[in-house]
This record gives sequence, structure tokens and C-alpha cells, in this order.
Amino acid sequence: MEAELELLMKAARRVAKNSYSPYSNFKVGAALLLSSGAIITGTNVENVSYGLTFCAERSALVRAIAEHGPAIRIKAVAVANLNDSASPPCGACRQMLAEFAEPDAPVIFPSINGPRTMTFSELLPAAFEMKLK
Ligand code: ZN
Repeated sequence: MEAELELLMKAARRVAKNSYSPYSNFKVGAALLLSSGAIITGTNVENVSYGLTFCAERSALVRAIAEHGPAIRIKAVAVANLNDSASPPCGACRQMLAEFAEPDAPVIFPSINGPRTMTFSELLPAAFEMKLK
């Protein structure tokens, strides 16, 4: 998994260059490793209204579903930014990704102490769930 995470991190850094972030200049990339072996990337897309800004992680998730369908399973996630800043996934992205990720899937992201890896269940221990009847 170590080599896969390194590959994912490179893909996340690469896609961060495509970030649309004219308001914050915070360029973020995310890469998802699917159980099929596919790697799907996404970047943040800002909007002049600020509130409509889309994070890199959710951008990658939406793309993964559009390209591979609703049955995808996420095996690992990498987040990177080009600003030398900490950028763990935000709460909204944790909740969105958790629905498609294995609880023990590693998530690697820049922390204030360098790259940090946590599992999904560590990142979001009480994700919202609902069982429909
Ligand atoms: Zn987010």
C-alpha cells in the first residue's frame, strides 16, 4: 500500500495544478484509488460566491461515480496542495467519501507535521448513516 499511496500522492499533486482557485490561490488535488485499480483525480473549483466552492476530494468522487458508476469502492485517498500547507479533508468531504470508502481505507494528506495517514474510520468515527426500510 505504501507504493500505491506514493503514486496517489503524485497524481494528487499533478491535478492540483489544474485547480480553479482565483480567490484563495489554494491549489488542492485529490486522488482516489478504486477497488478496480482505477485512479481518479479531482481538484478544487472555486466560485465568486465562495459558498459554492467544490473541494478536490468531492470533485474526484463525483468524477469517479460519473466514470465508473455508483457501485465504486474507494481503497485509498491522497490529498495534496501546492501551497505547502496542511490540508486534511474537510468535514463535508469526509462524509461524502465515507459512503464509498472501506472503513480501513488509508487517507494520506499534508498535516502541519508533514504527510499523515489515517483510516476513514479514524477521520470520521461517527459518519452519518441511514438504513432505509
Ligand atoms: Zn472538502
